Amino acid sequence: MFRLDGKIALVTGGTRGIGRACSEALAAAGAHVVMAYRGNEDAAKDATAAIEAAGGKAEAVKLDVASADTVAETIKDITKRLGGLHILVNNAGIARDQLLMRVKQDEVDDTFSTNVAGTIWCCKAAIRPMMRAKEGRIINLSSVVGETGNPGQAVYSASKAAILGLTKTLAREYASRGVTVNAVAPGYIDTDMTSSLSDEIKEGIVSSTPLGRVGRPEEVAAAVLFLASEEAGYITGQVLRVNGGMYV
Ligand code: NDP
Repeated sequence: MFRLDGKIALVTGGTRGIGRACSEALAAAGAHVVMAYRGNEDAAKDATAAIEAAGGKAEAVKLDVASADTVAETIKDITKRLGGLHILVNNAGIARDQLLMRVKQDEVDDTFSTNVAGTIWCCKAAIRPMMRAKEGRIINLSSVVGETGNPGQAVYSASKAAILGLTKTLAREYASRGVTVNAVAPGYIDTDMTSSLSDEIKEGIVSSTPLGRVGRPEEVAAAVLFLASEEAGYITGQVLRVNGGMYV
């Protein structure tokens, strides 16, 4: 079940945290995984070596998803060199947490250019090869706070809510071309992004999570792997919540 042999996958932000777990899961299922990262070379080398050591196929490419032209060139190159692009996981994301009254323009610009525009550029570049192949799986990383809101995360929550509108629209636009588009909305997951939260905040999160713990990147990756599979072929425009019951 959930085999991806012969498939080509691109995971943005695929070398750390949730993205790395997605890259590992897709590669373990047989996909050739291209992991895009912004700048952390050590993490990129480490993720590539770990997948290869496990017998998988992976490569890391440096790519800022906020740059539309670079995204288009990179995806064109992947498609030409590897013979297609079947799976796109839009996982690259940043959080600049701040109360609304303190929000600065560069925080809005950075967050939206990576989280929202970055996802749009990757979808735009991937959709042609997917349409040509009459098959494709796009999985966009949203967040529980995109649905619930969260004090101190106005900009980030807005960017993650935007992902849901984008996902539902693309699902409708490309269903007839064999491309499914879904979102995964994680709750609080143990990664570098959340490591700087204070113990008090983490305890508050755990106590408001029915399953009574934070999530692991592998638990999000399992949902991504499912949505990328043949078996999920009749699912599109949906939001799969991986949040320990925090929002139901
Ligand atoms: P991390 O901060 O651990 O990793 C982020 C990854 O994204 C890194 O690989 C980073 O590359 C890459 N990245 C950031 N900006 C860009 C860019 N402009 N272009 C290309 N790559 C970029 O994040 P998480 O693993 O925690 O989060 C992954 C996704 O899941 C995000 O979209 C996040 O919003 C979402 N999410 C996370 C939750 C959590 O609790 N952790 C909860 C809900 C949603 P590099 O290594 O080079 O810096």
